Amino acid sequence: MSELVLTLAAAQGRSTGIWHAVELHRSPSEVDGACEVAVCGALARVDLDQAWDGDDEESCEACADLLY
Ligand SMILES: [Zn+2]
Repeated sequence: MSELVLTLAAAQGRSTGIWHAVELHRSPSEVDGACEVAVCGALARVDLDQAWDGDDEESCEACADLLY
């Protein structure tokens, strides 16, 4: 049995500047700075220096709705 560890990262949309949540399925060192598909389906660039915060006013509402 493999252990499923779900890690959420914050990723910023390139055109909107809005922060999305991205589910990381790889080690964080492999995704920093890469474009990933966010929980809501948008493409966003992962920034591991930022933490996903669904309550932040600059966060994507669709991502927050899908996660909580
Ligand atoms: Zn989103």
